[in-house]
Amino acid sequence: MDEHKFLIRLVRCHLLVVILSQFVPLASVHGKHPYEHFTAFCSIGERTPGTPGHIKARDFIIERLKDPEVDTFRVLGTDYFNIYKRFPGSGSRIAFAAHWDSDVGCPGANDGGSGVAILLSLADTLKKMRPGCGVDLLFFDGEDVDAAELLGSKHFAATCIVNYDYVIVLDMVGDKDLQIFQEGNSKKFFPSFVDSIWDIGQSIAPNVFVPTVKYYIIDDHLSLIKYGIRSIDVIDFDYPYWDTADDTVEKCSRQSLDTMYRFVLHLIYERSVY
Ligand SMILES: [Zn+2]
Repeated sequence: MDEHKFLIRLVRCHLLVVILSQFVPLASVHGKHPYEHFTAFCSIGERTPGTPGHIKARDFIIERLKDPEVDTFRVLGTDYFNIYKRFPGSGSRIAFAAHWDSDVGCPGANDGGSGVAILLSLADTLKKMRPGCGVDLLFFDGEDVDAAELLGSKHFAATCIVNYDYVIVLDMVGDKDLQIFQEGNSKKFFPSFVDSIWDIGQSIAPNVFVPTVKYYIIDDHLSLIKYGIRSIDVIDFDYPYWDTADDTVEKCSRQSLDTMYRFVLHLIYERSVY
């Protein structure tokens, strides 16, 4: 394809994305809205590793992704399952990650479920609309084991050979009262990248993305950073129900998931961050 035709196609693609994401209800264009994935996934209940709910949740994600890669590993007698769905694209590669397990005694709606919902909707869209770059969706297991052991992301990072432009971890992104400050560890390692991401976030949802650091969080991005992968955490840690039995679907909203979904679509299809 010559460059002219390529540019026309690129512009058309961008226009299509802008039109689709701004004016048409997401659900009708992109498949299931994240909120639909969210409520269905959370209806499984707790997803503590080693329990029947864990296996049910694993199978739910596998079924919705249609033939993903399942990376099984064992730690202290318990089986864990990382699930990856990869979408080809030319040139660079980016990834979005979320953990899908939940902590003991916590339904993990916002903590785990919200990120899974965004990734599942992304999978629907990426199937229909090819991205310009390669995109991997990484569902990590074993994040919430004990005091955030981050088992799945450690397992992934230790053997990762893909040279990602970046990996964005989404965790606790469904709170009704959504407000996302910059995360301290992300900012410490990648200050300008974090600022760029928050600039984009503010262009999508100025009342949600706050461009200052509030918390330093132990999350899956730390496993990746340790192995030299540029990764940041996008998380709303002002959530009183975190790690309690009250982290349920009703504490989250369709609107918050919608906002986050538009945000990641923008990152994928507009390609304005490097
Ligand atoms: Zn979490």
